[in-house]
Amino acid sequence: MSEINCPHCHGVVSHGAKVCRGCQAEVEYGAPPFLYGVLLILSILFGFKAASFLPEFFGWLTAIVCFVAGAVVLNKFFKDRIKFKRLYRTK
Ligand SMILES: [Zn+2]
Repeated sequence: MSEINCPHCHGVVSHGAKVCRGCQAEVEYGAPPFLYGVLLILSILFGFKAASFLPEFFGWLTAIVCFVAGAVVLNKFFKDRIKFKRLYRTK
């Protein structure tokens, strides 16, 4: 297990931890979630495009294949991305 430094409190967080123990910042790994949303929309658009000249079934198939392939690419591309999200919550 590698360790990473929190940019907010400079504490050491073990890789895989979801929250920084020092400052409660949430640790996010991999691709930013909004990219999956963009990917989903693009996949559906591709699916619609495919369905315009292929049977509807292939349109959905295209959308699913695009999404899965895109997700694999995103995971590979953002494999080493770690982001600390500090939320200033009032308790
Ligand atoms: Zn921290």
